[in-house]
Amino acid sequence: MARTIIVGGGVYGTAIAWGLASRGVEVQLLEAQTVASGASGGPGRRGVRANYRDHRELPLMARAREIWPGLHETLGTDPLFERTGHLMLIERERDLANAEARVVLQNRHGIPTSMLPAAAVRDLEPGVAPSIIAAVHCPGDGVSDHTATTKAFAAKANEVGVDLRQGVRIANVIERNGRAVALETVEGDEIQIGGDLFLFANSSVRDLVRPWAELPTWNLALQVLVSRPLADNPVRHLIGHASRTLSLKAEEGGRLMISGGHLGHWDPETRTGSALPDAIKANVADAVAVYPSLAGLEVEVADANHLEAESLDSIPTIDRVPGLSNAFMGCGWTGHGWAIAPAVAELVTSWALDGTRPQALAPFGYARFATQS
Ligand SMILES: Cc1cc2nc3c(=O)[nH]c(=O)nc-3n(C[C@H](O)[C@H](O)[C@H](O)COP(=O)(O)OP(=O)(O)OC[C@H]3O[C@@H](n4cnc5c(N)ncnc54)[C@H](O)[C@@H]3O)c2cc1C
Repeated sequence: MARTIIVGGGVYGTAIAWGLASRGVEVQLLEAQTVASGASGGPGRRGVRANYRDHRELPLMARAREIWPGLHETLGTDPLFERTGHLMLIERERDLANAEARVVLQNRHGIPTSMLPAAAVRDLEPGVAPSIIAAVHCPGDGVSDHTATTKAFAAKANEVGVDLRQGVRIANVIERNGRAVALETVEGDEIQIGGDLFLFANSSVRDLVRPWAELPTWNLALQVLVSRPLADNPVRHLIGHASRTLSLKAEEGGRLMISGGHLGHWDPETRTGSALPDAIKANVADAVAVYPSLAGLEVEVADANHLEAESLDSIPTIDRVPGLSNAFMGCGWTGHGWAIAPAVAELVTSWALDGTRPQALAPFGYARFATQS
């Protein structure tokens, strides 16, 4: 039996499952809870941003930007992506040189980007505080509905015969002669692997590959806030900030999503996360500092229930598992793995099918953490 197994029903697992199965591979997809219950689900939308991305991810983002606008047609859904443009707001003189360098680099990667002086920022975002002195503008960036997209990938995977099993939590990978031959569930059941194994279970990948690789990643319960409807939402673009932990997105019904990297509390026993009052206050305070008219904003939803793995060098590891000739892994997206997902899934699928690692994935190899001895 040549059944390939994918662990993790987030955007990566579902997109890779669809990609492989639509090229004739027999695929079983195992998900501990339900599709889109991890980082690929939850309130609000996700930023699809090239602006201020690590330079090693820019080639992936250049490809992802080609995919996103038409992805709903490929998946047969309502539009999933909205082009809003991204503004990285700058408040401190000392952040300007970094901003100039990014403008040059992003344009060199074919991602139109410009530096806006204060007056031009106010033309685009009239509500920003007087303290904003400039912004880096990336007009092709936007936002997408992560839950709908992930479910749409799963539905396409189902159409091409992927065997999706939800409620199956994998505890261990069983190896024989350098191959992953089976998986052990937390209940102690064994699931045989006939073909390849894809470990794309985000928060669990580090533990699952530990016998073969020491990934320098850890899990974070990232906080997302959604406001009650605002009479006049001042936020027009996807907004980031060069020196505050802040990301803003206008949501439906006049709501505002506030995030950026504040952390909630994760309970490993119940596997649930909760937002913390101080972190909520800090996130809202930053939003108000940047858009003064948001003073008095009320939080409708405060969520920290969706774990994400962060990596030591802030870029993911996407590679074969060393010592397991038929296994691939991907994790450590560090809070920005959504935007590049369609491009990465496409590249991982082609790697598995033709055996050659695509050049664009070379910077994400595990060997970058190996010792020199
Ligand atoms: C709050 C928040 C905001 C974010 N904002 C952005 C953004 O604006 N832009 C951006 O680009 N990125 C953003 N990200 C990051 C992005 O959402 C993630 O990098 C991406 O969704 C990861 O997808 P995944 O498929 O690897 O992981 P997940 O969606 O977490 O999927 C992994 C799945 O594996 C399952 N699983 C875990 N362990 C096991 C196991 N042992 N056995 C079986 N199944 C298992 C989980 O239940 C989960 O469904 C954000 C993330 C969070 C949490």
